[in-house]
Amino acid sequence: MGPVLGAGPFIAGLRSAFAMGTPASCAFWILRSAVIDAEIRPHPAGVPDIGRALGQAAWRLARDRRFAPYRRRVVSGHARLGHCPVCSRCVVFVALTHWLRDSYECLRCGSIPRQRALMEVLEQVAPQWRDLRIHESSPDGASSRRIAQDCAAYDASQYWPDVRPGSMRDGVRCEDVTRLTLADESLDLFITQDVFEHVLHAERAFAEIARVLRPGGLHVFTVPWYWWKPTLVRARSGPDGLEHLEPPDHHANPVDPAGSLVITEWGWDLPDVISRHSSMTTTAHAIRDPRQGIVGAFREVMVSRKPTS
Ligand SMILES: [Zn+2]
Repeated sequence: MGPVLGAGPFIAGLRSAFAMGTPASCAFWILRSAVIDAEIRPHPAGVPDIGRALGQAAWRLARDRRFAPYRRRVVSGHARLGHCPVCSRCVVFVALTHWLRDSYECLRCGSIPRQRALMEVLEQVAPQWRDLRIHESSPDGASSRRIAQDCAAYDASQYWPDVRPGSMRDGVRCEDVTRLTLADESLDLFITQDVFEHVLHAERAFAEIARVLRPGGLHVFTVPWYWWKPTLVRARSGPDGLEHLEPPDHHANPVDPAGSLVITEWGWDLPDVISRHSSMTTTAHAIRDPRQGIVGAFREVMVSRKPTS
């Protein structure tokens, strides 16, 4: 790596970059700020890899209109150089908003912290995942794309209430995670990413996942986990349809523009609920690693293991 740039010349350079006002010049100074970030050490992959990451990030910042409103944030120190567990490259991470969980992006693959945490945990608990039989319910984002790309026996499904489970819509299989049409013990890994806060009768879904996993199989999943308080049920099914116990709260849904209603805020008793309904044992993995872009709230990755006998 070249000589580290001092703060004085850096600020002066930044001013002149803004005075010139071209995206490319801004991007250049933004990337220098990533290099001088105190937490960043040279990556073992070496300088050529870092050079590629910076060049790639500069290209995106200069040309991708989506990033234009955020350039000043990036300049003010919200960019970091690191290694992304989703695209397995040296990259620049950019914090687009203060809510890092949904906006701290890898400029190369677009992944966010919970997706990077999931990939890191997957490598730890099932390093041979590329050779396993994997099903993912409601895939979305860079981590789903990476798993689908690298695993030959990967299959995925989405949920539409008006489509019969097991049938197809637009080439995508429909599955209801509370009544899967998959065969008993037919999978090594079941993956869900931010799905279980939206599932009605989640206890049935945990039981179903245990049924389709082989003995020793794993359910690897992310969910916003409020580990400091008991589970809060926000809505449930009543005799007249859905019954709201709390004000409705919606999250983005890739297959429904109206979004997904939050049914449950899972608390400290989540592993107990899973164990009661599926006999699986759950471990929470809480990784914080700025160099892998794994920071922000709700980073936990859950791993439930089906007993071998
Ligand atoms: Zn990435």
